[in-house]
Amino acid sequence: LDVPIHEAVLGEAAGFGDTVALIDGTNGMSLTYAQLDGFHRRIAAALAEAGLRKGDVLALHSPNTIAYPAVFYGATRAGASVTTVHPLATAEEFAKQLADSGAQWIVTVSPLLETARRAAELTGGVQEIYVCDQAEGHTSILDMLSSTAPEPAVAIDPGEDVAALPYSSGTTGTPKGVMLTHRSIGTNLEQLRPFIPMGEGDRILAVLPFFHIYGLTALMNAPLRCGSTVVVLPRFDLAQFLEAIQTHRITGLYVAPPIVLALAKHPLVGEYDLSSLRYIVSAAAPLDAELAVACSTRLGLPPVRQAYGMTELSPGTHVVPLSVEEPPAGTVGKLLPNTEMRIVSLEDPAQDAEPGTDGEILIRGPQVMKGYLGRPDATADMIDADGWVHTGDVGRTDEDGWLYVVDRVKELIKYKGYQVAPAELEALLLTHEHVADAAVIGVYDADGNEVPKAFLVRGPAADGLTTDEVMAYVAERVSPYKKVRQAEFIGAVPRAASGKILRRELRDREKTEEQ
Ligand code: ATP
Ligand code: MG
Repeated sequence: LDVPIHEAVLGEAAGFGDTVALIDGTNGMSLTYAQLDGFHRRIAAALAEAGLRKGDVLALHSPNTIAYPAVFYGATRAGASVTTVHPLATAEEFAKQLADSGAQWIVTVSPLLETARRAAELTGGVQEIYVCDQAEGHTSILDMLSSTAPEPAVAIDPGEDVAALPYSSGTTGTPKGVMLTHRSIGTNLEQLRPFIPMGEGDRILAVLPFFHIYGLTALMNAPLRCGSTVVVLPRFDLAQFLEAIQTHRITGLYVAPPIVLALAKHPLVGEYDLSSLRYIVSAAAPLDAELAVACSTRLGLPPVRQAYGMTELSPGTHVVPLSVEEPPAGTVGKLLPNTEMRIVSLEDPAQDAEPGTDGEILIRGPQVMKGYLGRPDATADMIDADGWVHTGDVGRTDEDGWLYVVDRVKELIKYKGYQVAPAELEALLLTHEHVADAAVIGVYDADGNEVPKAFLVRGPAADGLTTDEVMAYVAERVSPYKKVRQAEFIGAVPRAASGKILRRELRDREKTEEQ
């Protein structure tokens, strides 16, 4: 799709006119498509008048609000690249992202203003901090809406110019700034469109954060592009989430596995009328097949559908089409059009893996990022000379082409020469009725063998539960080499905002305890 992202998404917005585009799920305030279209143009004009030039970077530092899309598209219309910032980032983390991305402009919200100010002080180089609401001494986006400045005429080259500069989740290391062009994002929306048919009349609940590429795509760009109504929540709170589904008659959910877990297991779910729901999509982290079934059966819905992708791929490569009534259990979907995949041997990456066996997933297609900002070496490690992205994920396909993602290459546990996928054990642990949550990492035992260790969160009625009981439960159900050999109860599993388990934090915790 060779137009700037604001055109790709809002090109048809004027036609949706008085249809409600966005609703604030906390207070019911809303914006129509005509307003969203007009507001983003005014914001573009005001930013240009304030001196923002094509190629400048604007940091959008906000939880999900109904203003978020107008600021995002206003900034890109003015020619900026938008770097989306985690609303819970500390000033130091935010400062790193400002310095790394070279952002000169910040848009924040008043509760986060102090953090934004400190981050800007730490970095220097920020020209202006705007707020979406009101704060003394700062221009508000609301004031921009009455700007009489002319709309900037910025010539955007969709294949070259960076529209979004999201940071990867930092699951495996320091988050990296990912340069996504207008074309890579727009193309991916076009690739996804036939398989996730949203349209006018659909009501989508935006509870995952817009700042992450999954939320940005599935909850903002895709639904706004086709005239759906997006109900916005600033964070995940189960009761508020269920209430919003009931009140706003939500039709489609795009969530991550922890929310599927809550929907499958939490007693609160039964207290709400969720009959408006037609489908649930899960992505961003491995989802257990049994859990998916438990969730859809409980809600009387078609099977929970998965999608697969990564920030570097704008983000999608695989989806389970909504039109397929009974997708095979556990699949993350089929390859999108105009995208190529190879699965290469884990032992010898120059060779393709035997069909049907596990290997590293390689992807090539128009949705591949332009590169990591300022990190040519990391870019070269990720995208090889032939244009293949080495995802770092292990997967296999079946004879019908359905992809199954096993885990990350680097997180496979090597037990005496066998490979054990932590995600598989985590999924099994969650089937235990008294285990509310679980994470697995490799640790070294007294003999120097790498062995799986489980971190377990007790369910509501699990006071008497012991780690031995849980380990025995696993041992009865897996081949001996996959047994969980160590276990410990913890209060909560550390997770990124996108729902991924931060196994890195658990490994750090192990290290500190050893010392
Ligand atoms: P970083 O690259 O900074 O370490 P990250 O890889 O977690 O962080 P993202 O781009 O947000 O950052 O996540 C992409 C990853 O999420 C994929 O590489 C894959 O491991 C995982 N993932 C996405 N969808 C699925 C899915 N359906 N099933 C299993 N894993 C998934
Ligand atoms: Mg990654």
